[in-house]
Amino acid sequence: MKLYPLFADLKGLPVLVIGGGTVAERKVAALLAAGARVRVGAPQLNPALAGLADAGTVAWLDGGYRPAWLDGVWLAIAATDDRALNARVAADAAERRLLVNVVDDAALSRFHVPAVIDRSPLLVAISTAGAAPALARRLRETLERLLDHALGALVTLAQRHRPRIVHRFPDLAERRGFYDWLYDGPVLSLLRRARPVEAEHAVLDALRTRDAAPAKGSVTLVGAGPGDPGLLTLQALRALNQADVILHDQLVGADVLAMARRDAECIDVGKRCAGRHVPQDHTHRLMLAHAQAGKRVVRLKGGDPFVFGRGGEEMAFLRRHGIDCEIVPGITAAVACAAYAGIPLTHRDHAQSVCLLTAHGKDAADTLDWHALANPRQTLAVYMGVERIDMLTARLLEHGRRADTPFALIENGTLPRQRVIAGPLHALPALARRHKVGTPALVIIGEVAAMAHDHAWFGELLSHRPEATAARVACAEPA
Ligand code: SAH
Repeated sequence: MKLYPLFADLKGLPVLVIGGGTVAERKVAALLAAGARVRVGAPQLNPALAGLADAGTVAWLDGGYRPAWLDGVWLAIAATDDRALNARVAADAAERRLLVNVVDDAALSRFHVPAVIDRSPLLVAISTAGAAPALARRLRETLERLLDHALGALVTLAQRHRPRIVHRFPDLAERRGFYDWLYDGPVLSLLRRARPVEAEHAVLDALRTRDAAPAKGSVTLVGAGPGDPGLLTLQALRALNQADVILHDQLVGADVLAMARRDAECIDVGKRCAGRHVPQDHTHRLMLAHAQAGKRVVRLKGGDPFVFGRGGEEMAFLRRHGIDCEIVPGITAAVACAAYAGIPLTHRDHAQSVCLLTAHGKDAADTLDWHALANPRQTLAVYMGVERIDMLTARLLEHGRRADTPFALIENGTLPRQRVIAGPLHALPALARRHKVGTPALVIIGEVAAMAHDHAWFGELLSHRPEATAARVACAEPA
């Protein structure tokens, strides 16, 4: 069977849904969204439908099915679980030359309702003619991930300027070039950035000035999350799908890079050359050169670009050179490692604040406010702390943080090789050495860290629980 695809304008038209349950409710919602005047025929309505009927949003045809319900409507949907009744509806509809859909019954249906990706006015509809609804659903989910949510606004913009565009580019090839620019260029980015007025101006400027369509480069600073590719955001995934060039840190693993466009050029700027990191200004120059060559550049960083990621410097540099810059946040290591170690960063009984800090660099020991960090009712999440673990522990103890304060050291957080080492603060340096902890690793210090002993749920747990801590953990259940 081959179906004829069709998008129906039902605005203001009466349509009928037969059935008063959840399935009917879903159909009614979609029809109302399309502006149809919905009549619902059923002896009983579920609470949601009853609410709509009470509010006058739908008209309720009370009681058992009557063929007269079909009179005067443009479409009918049978959403009952009574097959004989559905068949009757289908036959009565056929007699009236009325298109009918019987939910989950392709044989009785004259029209099918597709799986839809809605970026109105853009609609992508998928049908398998009822042969493989599960496949349609999967395709829908895939496309849902890929299609930017700003596309609807872009289509609306294109629609509004269509007459101008046609007038300005009577030649079809030139017009195509313009539309390539419109759909690939900076306008979508502006809409994604909630800058509709600038998007509008970009289109008008382009209509005024452009002859051909020179590509304009851009840079997106993207947070790749802590390592597990499942923790990428949809925006990150979309940026990776569109990138021409990806400049990534060493922290970004192969699994994450595998999500990128196949032919994107991947450059490791976290690589050590002769034991030294690629200098930051080299990264700056690379971003700039590729963007100026019209490339879509993704600067991909572990975790979040603005948490110990030098994202601020890179953004400022790009701005200084007039390069458009979008930021996609990522799940930062503290948030991800805590979650994957079963540690809530805040807790009503134990921690009212969280401090993200780094113990890296020669200045850390002198510039951090150790007195404040020793406050018992806050959680510390220490980045890049492993090499300076002795100093860190000593300073906290010196400033009065209790020696039995729980810690959890999370190595390779969210990756299959994750290890969590948990114990009391005074033993932190010795335990880190005993277990030969490497990078990347994050230390969480504070009462909440004790929860790792009981609630770690991912990877390996190396628990060194002192008795005193054990008693506290018992009352550390979430309220
Ligand atoms: N921008 C990143 C942090 C970069 S600094 C973010 O937001 O997460 C690098 C430090 O982050 C590492 O030394 C380590 O302390 C921490 N880190 C990053 N990924 C980690 C992981 N998967 N497991 C444990 N710590 C991690």
